[in-house]
Amino acid sequence: MTSTRSVIVIGGGVSGLAAAWELRDRAEVTVLESDAKVGGKLRTGTLAGVAVDEGAESVMALRPEAVELAEAVGLGRTLTDPAPAPVTVWTRDALRPMPAGHVLGIPSDPAALAGTGLLSDAGLARLCAEPDRPPTPLTEDVAIAAYLSERIGREAVDRLVEPLLGGVYAGRTDELSLRSAMPGVAGIAERGEPLLASLRGRPRPRGSFVRGIEGGTGRLPLAVARASGARVLTGTTARALEPTASGAWRVHAATADGPLLLTADAVILAVPAFAAAALLRPHAPAVHRELAAIPYASTAVLTMAFPRDRAGLGALPDGNGFLVPPVDGRTVKAATFLSTKWGWQAAAAPHLFLLRASVGRAGEEHLLDRPDRHLLRAALHDLHHAVGPIGEPLAARVTRWDRGLPQYTVGHAARLARIAEGVAALAGLEVCGAAYEGVGIAACVATGSAAARRVLEGARAAVPG
Ligand SMILES: Cc1cc2nc3c(=O)[nH]c(=O)nc-3n(C[C@H](O)[C@H](O)[C@H](O)COP(=O)(O)OP(=O)(O)OC[C@H]3O[C@@H](n4cnc5c(N)ncnc54)[C@H](O)[C@@H]3O)c2cc1C
Repeated sequence: MTSTRSVIVIGGGVSGLAAAWELRDRAEVTVLESDAKVGGKLRTGTLAGVAVDEGAESVMALRPEAVELAEAVGLGRTLTDPAPAPVTVWTRDALRPMPAGHVLGIPSDPAALAGTGLLSDAGLARLCAEPDRPPTPLTEDVAIAAYLSERIGREAVDRLVEPLLGGVYAGRTDELSLRSAMPGVAGIAERGEPLLASLRGRPRPRGSFVRGIEGGTGRLPLAVARASGARVLTGTTARALEPTASGAWRVHAATADGPLLLTADAVILAVPAFAAAALLRPHAPAVHRELAAIPYASTAVLTMAFPRDRAGLGALPDGNGFLVPPVDGRTVKAATFLSTKWGWQAAAAPHLFLLRASVGRAGEEHLLDRPDRHLLRAALHDLHHAVGPIGEPLAARVTRWDRGLPQYTVGHAARLARIAEGVAALAGLEVCGAAYEGVGIAACVATGSAAARRVLEGARAAVPG
């Protein structure tokens, strides 16, 4: 038996909904979501009559949290594997598949790169010549590029690792933290082991790294919200928090119908760091500063539907799409051939070829300062060069994710420790979300569940005697 009877979750993205799910049957939960629908970065729309994901399009299958949640809320039968295909990089003017067995672009077998053209001869020679002598064990966090350039050479970082990290974080290796964005590699560095030899000895995971949801990943938040039994108030933006004399929290919210005041025993902030910072400013100025200092990258997802019978499409290359290193100076950072990658999308619209392109990494905000039609034109120009003449789309949509992805820059882990300490001093308040311990859906589910468990534990600890 706990003393927590009511919890307000602010933010109806997958993190907040995972918290609501964890609290089901154990607390009365209200979720406040400022948008008209729950889901946050998980949003499925319709293009040319077909469901398409406008944000996240797959969940990590190498860790269990997201897949288990999908199964628990009744979506197990809709989980689906992508068509098997290697990661392909569009670089040095060609689409070049990456040999299997890499860790975020770091090859475990550099010799397998020979003949792929991914690197110049000099770049490949440098990669294969990782200094034998293990470096001094790393004692503090560094930028990924700072560590990797010394190990495998700058060209391998630019053309192999950078496109992968651009895909996951929309981030740059010169700024992202080795410890937070590549914890496994950081472990090797901290033990002072040689990098490539250590990766070579690792067991390779079997099966697909990611899974999709038939009908779109946007089904996941809707199903979790429903199954959690939580009261979900969409179109409701939390504006301020106020602790009450009895140790509860009051939330001042704004809705289309006017202000709304809600009180609960505990509050979970499941919003981006900048939004949590604003709400915590009066109560924990130091936490506010730390949260406000977490940078974000903006991106745009361009979804396009082409008629399949159009000349040129028959010549589309194999594979599920490609990633692009920033060093090549293109507009698109990635493209996904949705109709090849996901069987359910091909089946839903056999007459169409669905494709999505992403634009925008940290430091590329200028690319997004253009109207939608210019952005589409620039993306089509790149696609034309990468895959051949693909003509004009029948339908297209640009979805902008302003400050969509938090950047785990050098020192992120230490920052998290300071945030955790500051938040722990606020009884009945927790934070969770993509800003903390992983931007992927599975990691977000894990932080939401953990925040909910801390709320329940805090309540238990507060029960006298
Ligand atoms: C374009 C893109 C593609 C991605 N692709 C993948 C992928 O394929 N696989 C993967 O695993 N991950 C992917 N990610 C990352 C992943 O989708 C996100 O990190 C994750 O969904 C974030 O969930 P969240 O709940 O922490 O935050 P959010 O999804 O941002 O949810 C927070 C919610 O809080 C609401 N909110 C904010 N302020 C307030 C307030 N004051 N009051 C009330 N509500 C508020 C927002 O409207 C939002 O709905 C992608 C991200 C982006 C941007």
